[in-house]
Amino acid sequence: MMMYHMKVCEEEVSRLLMRGIEPAHSLHPSFSQFTYTPRSLPDDTTPMGILSMFEDMGFINTYKIDIHTLARFCLMVKKGYRDPPYHNWMHAFSVSHFCYLLYKNLELSNYLEDIEILALFVSCMCHDLDHRGTNNSFQVASKSVLAALYSSEGSVMERHHFAQAIAILNTQGCNIFEKFSRKDYQRMLDLMRDIILATDLAHHLRIFKDLQKMAEVGYNPKNRTHRSLLLCLLMTSCDLSDQTKGWKTTRKIAELIYKEFFSQGDLAMGNRPSEMMDREKAYIPELQISFMEHIAMPIYKLLHEIFPRALELYERVAANREQWTKVSHKFTIRGLPSNNSLDFLDEEYELMQAQGAFGDDGHRMNGCLDDECSKTDQ
Ligand SMILES: [Zn+2]
Repeated sequence: MMMYHMKVCEEEVSRLLMRGIEPAHSLHPSFSQFTYTPRSLPDDTTPMGILSMFEDMGFINTYKIDIHTLARFCLMVKKGYRDPPYHNWMHAFSVSHFCYLLYKNLELSNYLEDIEILALFVSCMCHDLDHRGTNNSFQVASKSVLAALYSSEGSVMERHHFAQAIAILNTQGCNIFEKFSRKDYQRMLDLMRDIILATDLAHHLRIFKDLQKMAEVGYNPKNRTHRSLLLCLLMTSCDLSDQTKGWKTTRKIAELIYKEFFSQGDLAMGNRPSEMMDREKAYIPELQISFMEHIAMPIYKLLHEIFPRALELYERVAANREQWTKVSHKFTIRGLPSNNSLDFLDEEYELMQAQGAFGDDGHRMNGCLDDECSKTDQ
């Protein structure tokens, strides 16, 4: 039904391609650097952002992708997102941009096959399609239509996101893989399914020991299992990449995520929601610190073990975790303030920045911690 209502008109496609594909650096001089915050790109420039990244990674040339089909596909994927506070198109765009950053900064081509990199990028674009701002437990507890379809297999939402991606590919004029051989086409779909299902953090936690083992013995690009595991790790790194930016991004993202969580908590009708979704119980700094220590930091630590150049990412996540500890004393409430804003947490950060001290150990980050740096750093 959703596909029936979703249409991209030809005028939109022509307008997007009117002046050809813009080079990535013309969107922003630091567009390909880890410090760039993709969320600062205006919403109506994001489809061009995707096209520029496709072009820059050589996908259009290598896979002979028709640019009208690609433009239509991008516009269709953008429309396939709803507008919850966090799981919207801007999230998908920034996740895709982080995949591009990995490609540009970590020499992914030495680790993965071309088709795997393309699958990762397209999966990033599609990985939260039609998200409703509610999680898997909510689908099951509320006996939603999606739960009826997928709950026996687990990862209810992720299965739906993948199904939506396939539905878009099957829409007239949107199949960017139309020129693939039957074998490559099947491979692409299998990869996309595995990668999108890997965005379920429950899946990540299940494979965590295998990821550690792989980092320990050393990554081998000829080992197919290693490549599948790495794709899962990269996808998760992209999904949580807001945490690798400056403090203001982390803080803003916390606002959006808890706004979405608390709305879900409010719907819990009679059943007590989990603590992190309960606006009367959730203590945000503690939840954030726990999330960063138990989920985010181990992910970027693994990434750094496999890619030495990913150290700066781990360091920024760790610095953001420190900052949550530093602001926690100001945070005397449960839930979010009535204006849903965490702006008040930034005053101290700005003061510290003015004094030039970021950490207790006197360690100063290389590069810029502040999100504004990608604007002033030119
Ligand atoms: Zn996501």
